[in-house]
Amino acid sequence: MTIKRNRHTKILATLGPSSDTKETLLNLVKAGMDNVRMNFSHGTHADHKRRFDMIREIEAETGRPIGIIADMQGPKLRVGHFKNKSISLTEGQNFTFDLNDAPGDETRVQLPHPEIINAVNIGDRLLMDDGKVRAIINDKGSDFLSVTIEAGTKLSNNKGVNVPNVELPIPALTEKDKIDLEAALDLGADWIAQSFVQRPEDVKEAQNLINGRAKLIVKLEKPSALEYLDEILELTDAVMVARGDLGVEIPPENVPAAQKRIIRACRALGKPVIVATQMLESMIEAPQPTRAEASDVATAIYDGADCVMLSAETAAGNYPIEAVSMMDRIATSVEQDDLYRKIMDADHPKTLGNNASDSITAAAYQVAMDVNAAAIVNYTTSGSTALRTARHRPTVPVLCLTESEQTARHLCLSYGVRPVVTIDVDNFDDMVSRASRIIRTKNLADKNDAIVITAGVPFGTPGSTNILRIASVE
Ligand code: ATP
Ligand code: MG
Ligand code: MG
Repeated sequence: MTIKRNRHTKILATLGPSSDTKETLLNLVKAGMDNVRMNFSHGTHADHKRRFDMIREIEAETGRPIGIIADMQGPKLRVGHFKNKSISLTEGQNFTFDLNDAPGDETRVQLPHPEIINAVNIGDRLLMDDGKVRAIINDKGSDFLSVTIEAGTKLSNNKGVNVPNVELPIPALTEKDKIDLEAALDLGADWIAQSFVQRPEDVKEAQNLINGRAKLIVKLEKPSALEYLDEILELTDAVMVARGDLGVEIPPENVPAAQKRIIRACRALGKPVIVATQMLESMIEAPQPTRAEASDVATAIYDGADCVMLSAETAAGNYPIEAVSMMDRIATSVEQDDLYRKIMDADHPKTLGNNASDSITAAAYQVAMDVNAAAIVNYTTSGSTALRTARHRPTVPVLCLTESEQTARHLCLSYGVRPVVTIDVDNFDDMVSRASRIIRTKNLADKNDAIVITAGVPFGTPGSTNILRIASVE
């Protein structure tokens, strides 16, 4: 079965009850899903395993690598319980958060996080229920916070609490996360996504736990992570602009600029960047998105994202296939716009300097444009050549030929990269003929079309890319 994509931007879809049969999953792949996300905040390990196994079967049947991301819940802060499940609030009233686990009422409730009570200061704000309730701290002790309610009318059991602008002394991986992480790695997840990262140390801790068994995606959703953006990008393999919590932690009007800044920084480094949350939110219940949502997906693509993501639309919505198909069409349309091309070309990354494989990759991109090549072909082991090529956001597909199934799956997130698992070549003729054969089965180019190939010689020894060859499709 050959499934052809007419776009370079990748699509990531969250799996859940709405994407739970093999038939639906296959239809999602056909509609445009390149990667899947399993959110370990929801569902059981058995649910995730079932979907994981179906995805790997579909991968084998379609011959298309599919990247699988296991998303860790992280330290989501929550209030305790109320006597009557919820309370009404009025603007200007006083309220207390304390450590007492007795059920809450109109005057107080438990906030079972002593470290938060300790870390915040008078004048700081607490946001509850995704920002629907806002309170300002006017007094504190070792075991309580006294606040004035600034906005919001209702608070109920277990609602999330955000403390924007305060760097909290809490680990980014909870005990639950550590159990989930091992379960995800046992399954064979390609990526671990880490939530609520605040500091570079959080990323180091995750990388240590993962220990090379998967690659890491840092979810950017805390203001302090944005302050340490450069250090965090050095340590992670990819990032997600997690706009759900980010839009609570920083004012919503600042999210677009943050999105653009993060995407530019990632592109310059060749690290994949995903834009996530509420992209086609109304398609949870309707077969068509709003115009604003279509425009939001388009904006992420004009910003230069590698990948756009669907959350509840595919996990719990009524129109999962339609949502993926809509994203596919928006991406295809944006990429054909002349203005999109101008924007991508205005921002070419600089070469790293004194790095042979980086120079070869940059040259391959330039040559491909000059000779009007139909594709760029990278022979690579680790995938780093393909990541460098993707930084240029080339107009032609990047066929990445690798012996490593893992590398192929990781490259599913990257802009324009078509990963194919194949055995290593051992001479120049074989290099061209193998690339030609794959290009023609994938319908990426026609006979006699020019292609630009990069590889490393001597063949068969993993090493850095050091040759560039212009060839014709045989
Ligand atoms: P996060 O902050 O990690 O994005 P979330 O709660 O927003 O967490 P999403 O993965 O963004 O979760 O999915 C959006 C919604 O889809 C969830 O709130 C949940 O209602 C539903 N959902 C997602 N995955 C599952 C699942 N495996 N089982 C049941 N419902 C799910
Ligand atoms: Mg989140
Ligand atoms: Mg979400």
